[in-house]
Amino acid sequence: ATPDTSPPATAPRGAALAEAARRVIPGGVNSATRDVGEPFAFTSAEGAYVVDADGRRYLDYHAAFGAILLGHNSPVVNDAVRAALRGHDLVGLGVSELEVRLAERVVELIPSAESMIATMSGSEAVAQAVRLSRAATGRAKIVKFQGGFHGWSDAVARNVISPAERAYGSDPLSHGILPAALDETLIAEFNDLDSVRALFDAHPGDVAAVILEPIPHNVGALVPTREFVEGLRALTLERGAVLIFDEVITGFRHSLGGYQQVVGVTPDLTTFGKGMANGYPVGGLAGRRDLMDHFDGRGGDVLLAGTFNGHPVGCAAAIATIDHLRANPDFYSRTFAHGDRIRAGLTEITAELGIVTQVTGFGGVFSMYFCAGPIHGYRDLLRNDNAAYVAFHRGMTERGVLMLPMSLKRNHVSGAHTDDDIDRTLETADVVLRELVAAG
Ligand code: PLP
Repeated sequence: ATPDTSPPATAPRGAALAEAARRVIPGGVNSATRDVGEPFAFTSAEGAYVVDADGRRYLDYHAAFGAILLGHNSPVVNDAVRAALRGHDLVGLGVSELEVRLAERVVELIPSAESMIATMSGSEAVAQAVRLSRAATGRAKIVKFQGGFHGWSDAVARNVISPAERAYGSDPLSHGILPAALDETLIAEFNDLDSVRALFDAHPGDVAAVILEPIPHNVGALVPTREFVEGLRALTLERGAVLIFDEVITGFRHSLGGYQQVVGVTPDLTTFGKGMANGYPVGGLAGRRDLMDHFDGRGGDVLLAGTFNGHPVGCAAAIATIDHLRANPDFYSRTFAHGDRIRAGLTEITAELGIVTQVTGFGGVFSMYFCAGPIHGYRDLLRNDNAAYVAFHRGMTERGVLMLPMSLKRNHVSGAHTDDDIDRTLETADVVLRELVAAG
């Protein structure tokens, strides 16, 4: 296919629908980062492509923030959902077969999983993990990393993409959170074990859990050193704290056993969501049985409640996604190869143009920071040229390759991207980056 690299003169992208939304939905979107300062409204999605309300097609690397793993409208997943609904919708008493079959798969595949609960979102899974850690340890404080995002719940909604003056300090994501809730969360530096040890030392016997995205993809991709992850495991064991891997993005995307399988370090608890059900709403929390048994209504002490927990649509979609990945392990070799090709291509193009960038990522996830290296932790990202990052993503999007035009946002290769799509991506990147250089 001939690449469409022409910038559209005007790109209304569903402006009329976006305007209607603003009249009845605050800000016109249902999740904060869906608003990038210009209207976007989409009407269809298929495979690696999405189509906006004005009929323009985009090669999609946004992938619904990573919720799309196999590709949009995957027939195996959608068929499984339809089949499930021929059985029953929500009954909400006891348990359904789909809930059991999903938990069995997670327990079989994820090293840390001895049992599992199903929620409706990643945020809910994290909120449960935090409460469970506090209940199990009798301690209050949580350690998270600057740059890690774990959803909207009070304990973790702070210090994600912080400007230099607020990084590591007070940087809540929202007003309305009790200061006392925020204060119980301590902020460490990724890939810096000493920063975590210092917090344990400063708050002896008070830290209930350390939570991390094993690769913090919410700031692109900070790839951990093995020593860091192994060190976190040893330190949390030594200090009696729970180690939580938030694998809402990395889970199933980087390997069937999550990033914990790649790095060979087993946390106590793991959260899931996003790609696990290829775009259908489901989240999960899995972990050590003695911890998870706190949720057992007969003798446990942590409340597990939720009308829609274990909804058949999400469970059927997750089972179909997982079974598809199991039956087609080449998903990983293909998405990893595509990710490698894009990383190599972007590195080559920017080197040729003399643009200083750090092309990073893991597997099918890729990002390109506009700064000098090396990149280890969040502190290094403070050097990133945010305007250039956004201009690159915006330029790609204007030419039909959808990359969320926000700084530090990552891109996702799905199972539906082809070699031709990767060619087109690199050809488009070449055009966009040349224009950026020309514009100074
Ligand atoms: N954890 C991580 C690592 C995430 O990236 C997100 C969402 O972006 C969440 C948790 C929250 O998940 P959800 O949006 O499904 O509530």
